[in-house]
Amino acid sequence: MEALQSVLSLLNEPIVQFFIWVAVLFVIANIFVERRLSFWISSVGATYFWLKNQDPVVALKAWLVVLSVFVVILVVKNVFNLNVVLLLKGKKRCPMCCEEAYRKAKICPHCHYKFASEADECET
Ligand SMILES: [Zn+2]
Repeated sequence: MEALQSVLSLLNEPIVQFFIWVAVLFVIANIFVERRLSFWISSVGATYFWLKNQDPVVALKAWLVVLSVFVVILVVKNVFNLNVVLLLKGKKRCPMCCEEAYRKAKICPHCHYKFASEADECET
């Protein structure tokens, strides 16, 4: 019960409410447009709403959180040559066509390249 209570108290945090707005807008936008565009629509939309109706400092803090996550992903990608987003999806890029395929796949679903191993993937 205590875990539930702490989750509920988190919902009172303005920054959490901001991200809920972003998430809801993202889900709605994702029905109509592709993911990358939905991300921008939802984050800019939530920021716009927030600046008009709520404390702008919260929006600023939320953007700092988003930017630091971006920085971490970019650093990991460039320093360790590891794509966190793909890893979380359990996917990799095919060395032949650079399209996404499941890490455990034996054959690329796009170009039918036969993977030598799970680590066999696109360099970029
Ligand atoms: Zn392929």
